[in-house]
Amino acid sequence: MDDTSEQRKQGQNNLKTGKIDPKFKYEIMRMPGSEKVHLCFQCGTCTADCVIARFTDFYRPRKIARTIQLGLKERLIGNEALWLCTTCHTCIDHCPQGVEVSSIIRALRNISVKNLGAMPSIYKIFASNILKSGYVYLMPESRLKKREEQGLPPLPKPNLNDVAKLFHATGFNETLEKAKTMENAKAEGAN
Ligand code: SF4
Ligand code: SF4
Repeated sequence: MDDTSEQRKQGQNNLKTGKIDPKFKYEIMRMPGSEKVHLCFQCGTCTADCVIARFTDFYRPRKIARTIQLGLKERLIGNEALWLCTTCHTCIDHCPQGVEVSSIIRALRNISVKNLGAMPSIYKIFASNILKSGYVYLMPESRLKKREEQGLPPLPKPNLNDVAKLFHATGFNETLEKAKTMENAKAEGAN
């Protein structure tokens, strides 16, 4: 079979109606910040300006918006590429339709964690760091000393009680405790 007919066959398989979830778009549109996904007209500005798309062939914010519009939920939920977004919000600043792509990606991540009960290990580490220190990155003592030596002001002191309350109120404590790492979930799936 030549390349063209192989691609055609794959395209037909990918678009089997059984795999399309017509309600998926509405599920996403109910999530805060994702309301305008239906307005994406595929101009590609978000992909052209995305700091991650610049370095990969498979991460394309424009395609994520289209995949949602088409209801191809299975292609997105659990897709590890979703975790590459840096939430720099450049896509939001530049979208002519006011589509908040990075908020949509956040929604997809939330659905993924809920459905799969798993998140990348680095995100589990980041979340525990925030709970412990109020910062994503645990600042080593040597770095803090260096700041002092350079005459920089001390870092703001986060209110850890408020952080803990927020984790509790949003149910994130429980999610964090229960969620496996994606690496473990993958290994279990392979066995
Ligand atoms: S910039 Fe906006 S309208 Fe253009 S492809 Fe991206 S999300 Fe769609
Ligand atoms: S927020 Fe995410 S999708 Fe948007 S430009 Fe930044 S890295 Fe790309």
